[in-house]
Amino acid sequence: MLNLLTKRAKTLHIGPANFCWFTDPSRALCLKLAGTPTADRPLVGMCDSARCPQATHHPCHRPVWAEHAERTKTFLGDLGKTRRTEHARLQRDYDRALRVVAEIDAAATGPSDEDSA
Ligand code: SF4
Repeated sequence: MLNLLTKRAKTLHIGPANFCWFTDPSRALCLKLAGTPTADRPLVGMCDSARCPQATHHPCHRPVWAEHAERTKTFLGDLGKTRRTEHARLQRDYDRALRVVAEIDAAATGPSDEDSA
């Protein structure tokens, strides 16, 4: 494990909500969003790991995503009906957070009997 981490030291960036496997700058969503696709390191401050193909989420990240989903759900409930644009954006955030939590849970429990059949 330590050997793997040493080999991956330049590409693996450990964040509170995800691991970033920065192997291909052209696939890094943060660089695309920043308009700097050839940068040699990720822009962690602009990380949108739920949409980035270089991110992975693990059980240690679950509390962050579960809390994010819960907080977003509260905001959604507080929004007035006239705020459609904001509602749509928050709904997407909420759906992404739930998807990440579900993916973490699915990975933790392994394939179901139906999946392995
Ligand atoms: S968006 Fe996040 S996971 Fe993706 S490359 Fe940037 S920092 Fe890494």
